[in-house]
Amino acid sequence: MKTIGVLTSGGDAPGMNAAIRAVVRTAISLGMNVKGIKRGYSGLIDGEIIDLDARSVADIINRGGTMLYTARSGRFKTSEGIAAAIENCKKFGIEGIAVIGGDGSFRGARELSNRGIPCVGIPGTIDNDISSSDYTIGYDTAMNTALEMIDRIRDTAQSHDRCSVIEVMGRHAGYIAENVGIAVGATDILIPEIESNADEVISRILEAKANGKQHFIIVVAEGVGNVEGLAKEIMDKTGIDTRATILGHVQRGGNPTVLDRVRATQMGNAAVHLLYKGIGNRVVSYKGSKIVDFDINDALEMKKEIAFDKLTVARETSM
Ligand code: ADP
Repeated sequence: MKTIGVLTSGGDAPGMNAAIRAVVRTAISLGMNVKGIKRGYSGLIDGEIIDLDARSVADIINRGGTMLYTARSGRFKTSEGIAAAIENCKKFGIEGIAVIGGDGSFRGARELSNRGIPCVGIPGTIDNDISSSDYTIGYDTAMNTALEMIDRIRDTAQSHDRCSVIEVMGRHAGYIAENVGIAVGATDILIPEIESNADEVISRILEAKANGKQHFIIVVAEGVGNVEGLAKEIMDKTGIDTRATILGHVQRGGNPTVLDRVRATQMGNAAVHLLYKGIGNRVVSYKGSKIVDFDINDALEMKKEIAFDKLTVARETSM
């Protein structure tokens, strides 16, 4: 390949910029040209495509968000949309694409690969919900941001003998909640993978209270929902002053951590080495401390299980 494209798609994640930088500079090192496709598949359809050189990606390794912007594109799921995208690949001389995003973005990458534009996926999502990879870009930063925010809430919860019910990101996956919950010493952690029960949460709080604990943190993944309702129920049934906080999009932003920058750089680099060899329809992944790659179909079929034993660890250490 002489020219490749790079795009970010779906939800943004800190470290996507580091991946873009790695893609661009690796490609240039290998003698290829790089086009930046703005706003994901939407920009591919609309021809929002720019030339990128080594200097275009200077000073972004440290920045959250994505310099190429990101979007969700309904049009790309239609045959007209995908035809327009292919047309633009031909027009701009794009022979392959590094797609940084989640499962949905990989499905789009598969469509393009099947139509003669080899694509390689790079897992970018704060939720860590990509089965082929133990780790996704943005996950570590999001966890550290949530941790910092909850530490602050803890200061005030502790001062007032309160219970804080805190919602962290994770619509379908409890990875952030589980790890952050352990890291803040949460009295309980609720994740979407396990049906939750307010009475069980309340009995844990009362047990901890009987052990002398005076403030309580309950970490809830977004997918479980209704933190306001849970806070009210805890307050009504225990008499403990209880507040709900939804951390929200604060967890998406901020400077990426060391881990996110390093993994993003490694995965971006690996994706370009595949494209350089003309190999597409792959997803780069981090598995067992190694950077590997899988066929997109296989990657999308894989299942990943959350470490349920960590919940037990959390409960046994937060009395
Ligand atoms: P993520 O990549 O974070 O999972 P989405 O699921 O929103 O985010 O997917 C991002 C974009 O990928 C969608 O807006 C759409 O353009 C494209 N996409 C998702 N699923 C498909 C599909 N089955 N076929 C083609 N394109 C898809």
